[in-house]
Amino acid sequence: MSSVGPALEVRSLTKRYDGVTAVNDLSFEVHEGEIFGLLGPNGSGKTTTIRTIMDIFRPDSGEVSVLGEPPGRSRARIGYMPEERGLYDNLKVMEVLVYLARLKGLSGSVARRRSGDLLERFDLADRATDKVNSLSGGLRQKLQFVVCLVHDPDLLILDEPFNALDPINVALFGEIIRELQSAGKTVILSSHQLNLVEALCDRIVLINHGEAVLYGPLTEIKRRHSPDAVRVVTPDHLDEELPGVGRVEERNGGYVVTLEDGAGPQDLLRGLVGRGVSVEAFEVVSLPLEEIFVSVVRGGGDG
Ligand code: ADP
Repeated sequence: MSSVGPALEVRSLTKRYDGVTAVNDLSFEVHEGEIFGLLGPNGSGKTTTIRTIMDIFRPDSGEVSVLGEPPGRSRARIGYMPEERGLYDNLKVMEVLVYLARLKGLSGSVARRRSGDLLERFDLADRATDKVNSLSGGLRQKLQFVVCLVHDPDLLILDEPFNALDPINVALFGEIIRELQSAGKTVILSSHQLNLVEALCDRIVLINHGEAVLYGPLTEIKRRHSPDAVRVVTPDHLDEELPGVGRVEERNGGYVVTLEDGAGPQDLLRGLVGRGVSVEAFEVVSLPLEEIFVSVVRGGGDG
């Protein structure tokens, strides 16, 4: 891709509905080629933000730039999967796809080829001639993802893509999202299911009541909020005698070693090796994003 600058810029976005502030002074950027998480609990303002990006709503204040242009200008380069999934129920799967692909400007033959390839990739090829209304909720959701990919967009905006999916299809969507990234696409994932998306995202903004509470690269956020603890697996016995160690707990066939203030994981590793402890696994403990979110919201800030 050739464009310069971020794939998406949201600056001081505010949106109210009849006096209720749904999004309040929200700012973030999405870089080209990344998987970005627009995360937060239900009602936190994700869909409102996306609808502003998609030019469905005008903001009360603030600015949005999508692929370098104001909202609404680059539709042909965007694949949008809305939260409410409406498709043409009485048509057959392939007919719907070809119809929508042609609306997006593809020729009939390209539309059929792309649709066929995507149905194959999503394990839907055997349903091509079934009516849309015969598909289960999860299969419709897959079809909706296919619809949003059929014109080969550069930027994907997926609003709650995992909502009605079973674990097998959550994994399939995850694989496909990674493939899209490898092909140079930018993916924005909106979700309240932090545990499902955190393994996928490069950077995130986590919002609560319409305001950003965490923003940046996920690894940095995790590092900043890690609990100064290390998980060690060893057949040997560990106790608090080790230098720099505050507490040792046995958990899940290993030990969780909490470090004293000022001691780092390297100090512990050196201490273990120095004492001839046989280390089978050594890993700095990081908290699930959900726990970080809860503690930041309760603590009133990102510190
Ligand atoms: P999310 O996508 O994170 O679940 P939404 O953007 O849908 O959050 O909603 C943010 C807030 O705005 C919620 O309090 C919701 O009730 C309110 N809201 C959303 N859409 C409307 C609307 N059309 N009219 C009035 N209030 C709305």
